[in-house]
Amino acid sequence: MNYNCSYCQDTKQIKVPNDQEKFDSIIDREMDGGHPLPAAEAQEKAYRICGYHMIECPYCKNEKEIPEKK
Ligand SMILES: [Zn+2]
Repeated sequence: MNYNCSYCQDTKQIKVPNDQEKFDSIIDREMDGGHPLPAAEAQEKAYRICGYHMIECPYCKNEKEIPEKK
């Protein structure tokens, strides 16, 4: 699958954890040790634990500022 924006996968919104520090530490913990989770699963779990909100994708916003092809 190819997305115009790989950050939000063209949904125009991205998840932001409510507690970035806790989020990072959960990722670190889950991807390390005896039973490491795949990155995607570790992230899902961390989002679930920390809670998250959606923001407008900053990467898409930047794209809008790029002028149309001439
Ligand atoms: Zn985007």
